[in-house]
Amino acid sequence: MNTITDFTNDIQTIDSAHYMHPFTDHKGLAEKGARIITKADNVYIWDSEGHKIFDAMSGLWCVNVGYGRKELVDAAAKQMTELPYYNSFFQTATVPAVKLAEKIVQLAGDNYSHVFFSSSGSESNDTNIRMVRHYWATLGQPERKVIISRNNAYHGSTMAGASLGGMGGMHAQGGLPIPDIAHIEQPYHYGLAPTEDRDAFGMRAAGWLETKILEIGAEKVAAFIGEPVQGAGGVIIPPKTYWPEIQRICDKYGILLICDEVICGFGRVGKWFGSQLLGCKPDLMTFAKGVTSGYIPLGGVVVGKRVAKVLIELGGEFNHGYTYSGHPVACAVALANIDILEHEGLVDRVLNETGPYLAQQYAELAKHPLVGGAESIGLMAGFVLMKDKANHIAFDEDVGVGMICRGHCFANGLIMRAVGDRMIIAPPLCTTKAQIDEMMVLIHKCLNATLNDLEQRGLMHHVALKMNVA
Ligand SMILES: *Cc1c(COP(=O)(O)O)cnc(C)c1O
Repeated sequence: MNTITDFTNDIQTIDSAHYMHPFTDHKGLAEKGARIITKADNVYIWDSEGHKIFDAMSGLWCVNVGYGRKELVDAAAKQMTELPYYNSFFQTATVPAVKLAEKIVQLAGDNYSHVFFSSSGSESNDTNIRMVRHYWATLGQPERKVIISRNNAYHGSTMAGASLGGMGGMHAQGGLPIPDIAHIEQPYHYGLAPTEDRDAFGMRAAGWLETKILEIGAEKVAAFIGEPVQGAGGVIIPPKTYWPEIQRICDKYGILLICDEVICGFGRVGKWFGSQLLGCKPDLMTFAKGVTSGYIPLGGVVVGKRVAKVLIELGGEFNHGYTYSGHPVACAVALANIDILEHEGLVDRVLNETGPYLAQQYAELAKHPLVGGAESIGLMAGFVLMKDKANHIAFDEDVGVGMICRGHCFANGLIMRAVGDRMIIAPPLCTTKAQIDEMMVLIHKCLNATLNDLEQRGLMHHVALKMNVA
């Protein structure tokens, strides 16, 4: 009798019987059984069978300070003991919510004055839709309702979040998108125009926004929303010309700019917010995930002065809010989390040390015969698995090469995520250079295992392979 395996089997059986997972095909899961994660420390997680796994995805892009940080546990315990809950409706507030709003405004910079809290990224993007429409109605332009987003964007999974997002599979369920949401093409250089000059492509991709504004009529457009770097879409890093040109177009037509900073915010790209690195000044910034390093749910919107002034001076009551807006325990944990990021200099370390080091490693990785378009920004990175990269030939979709590779990663103690044929990572911001080395060894090992596997199945393009592997 193996008691560890018995325990795992028991949990898997109960899981299958009762737990409906997010984004999961349950028939497929029932055949294999879920991997049960039982503990974590620093950049590692352990499953119920005792396997140690390098978590190169920081959970779901959120465990920025790493696992096992007692400071966050203590902050939660202290706040729960003192005041576990009170709301901010009806002219009340709690100390952690007030202090966190002040802190986030300081980190965001001069352009911003207020913070609206929620408990997730999806909720925060619902807030954005409500807020920009209320803003324009207050200014006497209620016909400005349309929000323009992008294909392959991810803005959450509520009706509004999924509508803003550009994922066809999500729109296909539930009658989405909701009205007055439009989409333009994403700035995906390697996928859409690999032979075009990168910066010229960035300008052209931003130009699609202007085309869409003119098609709809500028007087009907409320805002444009985008992730500074698309995350769930596969770590799509835009050319450096893209965001300044988006900003110029928004300014030209007076439309609001929303950056969804749920992944990029709180240090992921080496600045407190991605927009600070990529050259735009959004009117609203969505945050969640990294604000508490995922230890407890918290999200919100950083509100720029342009919007805050109108809402506060002219807007009257904003009929919107959540029971847990400004939850004191979540806000106390966020303050402790930001304190760690500041005192350990993790954001600067990503910008000056670990980010550039990862970029060097990814430049090396680009030599692997399977790897196309490898690139990174801060501590997020991605590449495409290519059948014949010299001739830019992808695998057939039904091969499911991303899932094959992900299987080899799981088997070799590495969490690397597959998005279609793109393989992506976003390790915790506390990851050291030595741990990046360790992660790269695992990535190479998993890629070689994937290559062998594909060769054995006769799925590689053989002429190209021999040329590249020689
Ligand atoms: C994860 C994510 C969201 C949704 O956040 P939830 O907390 O899951 O609702 C929204 N936007 C972006 C960019 C995200 O990565």
